[in-house]
Amino acid sequence: MKLVLLGAPGAGKGTQAKKLIEKNAIPQISTGDLLRAAVAAETELGREAKSFMEKGELVPDTVVLGMVEERLGQDDCQQGYILDGFPRNTAQAEALDQMLASLSMELDAALSVDVPLEDLMKRLTGRRTCRDCGQMYNIYFSAPAEEGKCDKCGGELYQRDDDQEATISKRLEVYNEQTAPLIDYYASKGILKSVSGTGDIEEIFANVCATLGL
Ligand code: AMP
Repeated sequence: MKLVLLGAPGAGKGTQAKKLIEKNAIPQISTGDLLRAAVAAETELGREAKSFMEKGELVPDTVVLGMVEERLGQDDCQQGYILDGFPRNTAQAEALDQMLASLSMELDAALSVDVPLEDLMKRLTGRRTCRDCGQMYNIYFSAPAEEGKCDKCGGELYQRDDDQEATISKRLEVYNEQTAPLIDYYASKGILKSVSGTGDIEEIFANVCATLGL
């Protein structure tokens, strides 16, 4: 399965992607995760990306496209992949189409995870991630048993720098202006599918699987 996941920040794309990779044994390619790793490792790419990420703005297309192309060329992507958080604008979507055509890896579907705007703020401000295993929690909806500690591995939970309120507003604005138009982009190609991203994670996942015919 070759899939793009679309949805606003906080829609739960990452959570659904993680469940899909468990079921399908294909990699999740999250440009946000790749960029955060580059920032943490203080690579040149990370240093370039950092200031944009802190402001909630998109990192320049040239930086992201090179990163995705390199990742898609790796062996584990040849049977399928889930792109999470990429593409983020029409220029990236067009570049992706060209890239995939030249690699003969065209998309099967673009799946939009839809969550009302008013729910997104609480989801993002409440989000906490485990430093060790990446497990995600929400202090409002799915709190860990012990505050600040991962239920799965005991690791420390942290709040992403760009999950602070001012940055979140900017990220939602960027989503509406630059990323939401991709819903029409993929609809016009005839590969758009949508699911509601509201409610229980397992129920959403069951809908995702049914919608994708898995
Ligand atoms: P995410 O984890 O997908 O919410 O991404 C976090 C931040 O990384 C975004 O706010 C952007 O600054 C940057 N980012 C992630 N993916 C992209 C992308 N495809 N294009 C540009 N910037 C991105």
